[in-house]
Order: sequence, then structure tokens, then C-alpha cells
Amino acid sequence: MELPYAEPYKIKMVETINRSTKEQRLKWIKKAHYNLFNLSSDKVFIDLLTDSGTGAMSDKQWAEMMIGDESYAGSLSFKKLKKTVKNITGFKYFLPTHQGRAAENVLFSTLVKEGDVVPGNSHFDTTKGHIEFRKATAIDCTIDEAFDTSVVHPFKGNIDIKKLESVFNKYPKEKIPFVILTITCNSAGGQPVSVKNTKEVSELCKKYGIPLYFDAARFSENAYFIKKREEGYADKTIKEIVKEVFSYGDGMTMSAKKDGLVNMGGFIALNNKEVFKQATVFNIMFEGFITYGGMNGRDMGALAVGLNESTEFNYLESRVEQVAYLGQKLVDYGVPVQQPFGGHAIYLDANKFVPTIPREEYRGQALAVELYVVGGIRGVEIGTVLADRDPVTRENRYPELELVRLAIPRRTYTNNHMDYIAASIKNIYDTRNEAKSGYIISDEAPIMRHFTVKFKKI
Ligand SMILES: *Cc1c(COP(=O)(O)O)cnc(C)c1O
Repeated sequence: MELPYAEPYKIKMVETINRSTKEQRLKWIKKAHYNLFNLSSDKVFIDLLTDSGTGAMSDKQWAEMMIGDESYAGSLSFKKLKKTVKNITGFKYFLPTHQGRAAENVLFSTLVKEGDVVPGNSHFDTTKGHIEFRKATAIDCTIDEAFDTSVVHPFKGNIDIKKLESVFNKYPKEKIPFVILTITCNSAGGQPVSVKNTKEVSELCKKYGIPLYFDAARFSENAYFIKKREEGYADKTIKEIVKEVFSYGDGMTMSAKKDGLVNMGGFIALNNKEVFKQATVFNIMFEGFITYGGMNGRDMGALAVGLNESTEFNYLESRVEQVAYLGQKLVDYGVPVQQPFGGHAIYLDANKFVPTIPREEYRGQALAVELYVVGGIRGVEIGTVLADRDPVTRENRYPELELVRLAIPRRTYTNNHMDYIAASIKNIYDTRNEAKSGYIISDEAPIMRHFTVKFKKI
């Protein structure tokens, strides 16, 4: 008999999560105005709101917490982290920051000016925000396949080289401070970028004299997909693949809350000494002195260990395959989900799931609320609510896809939890034709409404 897969870790500490009844949840979600962001965590059984900073640290990371060096200057924990970042990424210079968007703030303050354009593959919200805040423009050059959920492509995060070159031809070099390559591409559903594509982007950038930076929040998960899917990489270690990918770029910003395996943290790593010197000034101004940059010494130590752990194959296999395990269960039940599965989340396709609920009644939100009511599971709508209103007409924007994202925290839940999630969704799917109406908005903020919006049931 072939042995089944089993996780390469055992549990040393547990955290109780609260079961509740459907009646309780109906009451709680009504009081929360049907907005899942308004629920306190003790009213959630399985929390899939995000994989950012929600993972479990290892015993070795916790051990580092005890020996953190909290010296203001010259912290030994900083030295440990700096050495690890150099070993793993190959980049020469390093600046710690308190999280990913802070790294963007520091680097972009150095490099991005009004009127610039920054091409990339479906920039993440905060990345785009930091570009637009400086009155510059993010240009999406992702391959067309990424926008079609029915197309199976191993590297849906790839950049379309022709699109990128046309941007290079359209704008003068001085207007393009850098290209940003997001690995894995979060906004495209956690989809990976191949080494081949990275190399091609890098060569084109060199030809036009434009630097290439990585938004590397999930660089280890990206390397796992490369090992599994790209020809010539099956026998390479994750650390070798990571090194090669980064060797094609000039630097990176990192949200350590993802593949850093810590709850808070981030950094910048780069090769250009002049850029490093300028960024140092902004880092001291916005984040803190260069040997802590908004992080505790103990957190820098835990991050150093986390970076080494997240680039181990056995960890990544358990992580990415757990996400796929949930995805495959849902596919087996006939539930419409986005494919291929991403590295950190499964996305329910609400347009196919509940077409009986009118789009104007926020069918993605309706499905997310139902999942909470039925199973105590908290996902998040990525659809009309998130897309917000057109700033000029104030009309709702209806994106092509209405999704409910189920982000899986790292090393946190077992496959029993995945079975429970899949069964809850199957039960909703079996009765989907009974869903006829959704919600109206009773109160909303002028921008970023999804965090605080209030709904009424129709
Ligand atoms: C999370 C994330 C960020 C921002 O990082 P924070 O730590 O949340 O500030 C930037 N880019 C990508 C791709 C991310 O997933």
C-alpha cells in the first residue's frame, strides 16, 4: 500500500478556537452589519481572512525570541538577519522595515517621482498605492492567460515581454525608475513566475538600462512551483532556485509576514550602493535606525530562522500541497474554484456558484457571509465590494470576477480543518439554488469601503 502524505512537523503548543452554533453566528453577523471584518476573532472558528502574519512560528523561532538583542545600535539580531538575507537572496545591502508596505514606502521615496511609470505583473494594492501616492502610474504587463480562469497555464504570474517592451518604447528611460516583478503574483491569485520569464524580463531591462526589483513576499512558494513545474529545476534545491531568481534582479522589497514566517516584519535588499545610501535616509526617517528599522531585535532573530525554514522543501511541500488539498476536494465536489490553485489561497468563483443572486446584490459578499453562518469560516470577498465605486461617476464598478478568497495561514490548520471547510462549502453548494437575494449597502466610506461597509439583508 502506498503511504499517504503526512506533515513534516508535530505540535508542541495549541491554541483553542471556538466552536459556535449557527444561531449564534446569525446573531453575531447581523450585529456586525454582515461585514466579516467587524467580527471579533473569538466568534470565528476557522479564520481564512488572510495568510499575512497569521502563521505559526517554529520552536527554533521561539527560541530566537528569547535571545534577541534589543540594542539600539549594532544589534546582534540585526547582524544575524543581515547575514541570512545575504545568504538567501544574494543581495549586498539590507534595510529592515516594520512590514512590506513600509519597505515600499522607503524604496519608492528614493526612486519614484511624479509622472513616472512603473511596469509590473498585477501590482499588489499597497504597491500600486505607493506608486499612485507619488503621482506615478503602475502599468500591468501580466500575460493575458492570467485573466481567464478557465485557461490552465503553469506560470500565470508571468510578464508579457511584448507588453513590457512597448512600455519601454513608449516612455523615455528617465520616466521608468524600475520594473517590479511580484513573486508569486498575489493579485493574480498567488500565481507563480517562471525562471525563464524572470530571465527574459531581466535581459530586456538590461537592454533598456532599467533596474528590476522584486516584490518578494512569497518568493519561497514561487520557487516551489518552479521546482515542480519548470523544466530543468526538479533536482535543484529551493535555496538554489531562490538564489538564481534573485540573481536576475537589482533588489527586492519583502513582507516578512508571508514567506518570512513571522507575524510582523519586512525588509529591503539591493545591490546598488547609491540607492542604498539614499534609502537609508528615508529608513531612518520613517522606520527607525538602520539596525532595527521598526523591528524588535527578537523579531529580527525569528525572521532570520523563518527565512531559512521557508526555503526548505519539506515545509513548502506541506504548505503548498495543503492549499491544493483543499482546492482538489472542492473540485471533486463540483464547486467552481479558480485554477490552477495558487500558493496561498483558494478562490471560490461566486459568478458560477450563486448566479441566482443579482450582481447588484453583492453575490461574492453573500457567499462569504453564508460560509461564516454555515461553518464559522471567515473568508473575504474579492469582487464588487472591494472594487469600490468609480471615483467620478460614483457608480459601483463590477469586476469580471466575483471571488471569495480562502487564504490559508502557514502551519496553522490541519487537513481535518481543510475537510471541514470543504464540507461546509459543499453543503452551501448543494442548496445554492435556494439563494435568491443578497444585500444592499446601508453605509460606506468614500474610499477603501470594504473594511467598514455596512450591509442590510434583502
Ligand atoms: C502583503 C503584501 C505586500 C504588503 O506587505 P504588508 O506586510 O502587508 O505591508 C506587498 N506585496 C505583496 C505581494 C503582498 O502580498
